[in-house]
Amino acid sequence: MESTHSHGPGGGGFLAGRKALVTGAASGIGKACATAFAEAGAAVYVVDRAARAAEEVAAAIGGTCLVVDLSDPGAVDGLPADADIVVNNAGLQHIAPVHEFPPERFTHIQRVMVEAPFRILRRTLPHMYARGWGRVINISSVHGLRASPYKAAYVVAKHALEGLSKTVALEAAAHGVTSNCINPGYVRTPLVEDQIAGQAARHGIPEAEVVERVMLERTAIKRLIEPAEVAAAALWLCSQHTGYITGSSLPVDGGWTAH
Ligand code: NAD
Repeated sequence: MESTHSHGPGGGGFLAGRKALVTGAASGIGKACATAFAEAGAAVYVVDRAARAAEEVAAAIGGTCLVVDLSDPGAVDGLPADADIVVNNAGLQHIAPVHEFPPERFTHIQRVMVEAPFRILRRTLPHMYARGWGRVINISSVHGLRASPYKAAYVVAKHALEGLSKTVALEAAAHGVTSNCINPGYVRTPLVEDQIAGQAARHGIPEAEVVERVMLERTAIKRLIEPAEVAAAALWLCSQHTGYITGSSLPVDGGWTAH
């Protein structure tokens, strides 16, 4: 593939020789991360259950497509263990009050968004330790730091991911491995576009009003975040001068958590 190296924080191709495993890489933030890491020279494992979309991303960036359902522990344990960078990104939402929340949906969300990251890290950390360098980037959310009603499984999963990230940061520090969360507000991805369409239909109001009144209510900057802006933060955490940043949670939330 013709490479189109961009000039990342450490200069063009600063991740050459590194392998990055990105989950949920077929869409949205994961796709943007996979693209940014490939442009910086990394070999990228594009992990997703959406086969066709994952294949398209892998083909576009010269990566390796791995079609896996992350709710299946056996399949997760079959993922490559030789990643230098892990981006735990795959996620999904379910909206319901706790007393109506289907327990099996709750369990599924914890499997994909908590157990899969744990299983991926327990297999990849030994490789990072052996090389004396590694980066763990957990795509958390404002909902890793704050709650919202009707999102119990998601809020629980993101808070758990914060705990996993900090524990790994403590264990891995001596090995040149950092672990951090990125905490976006609402990002313009299919996950959010579906919520906008759903809420507009439910409340009988235009989609623009859902964005303005519901999604951007708490943010000081009145626009959605673009996936590439989140990917830029992930790439920055892999760059030359960020080795002292670990166990942190980086809000990319337009001021939401300033409240
Ligand atoms: P998205 O729906 O565009 O992409 C999520 C990807 O995860 C999809 O490609 C999907 O196929 C994959 N996925 C879901 N379940 C899977 C499974 N069981 N096995 C394998 N792959 C699976 O979503 P997005 O908005 O890009 O979200 C990515 C991450 O960012 C999620 O963890 C989400 O919680 C987080 N996040 C998103 C926003 C936002 O506003 N979009 C804000 C904060 C955090």
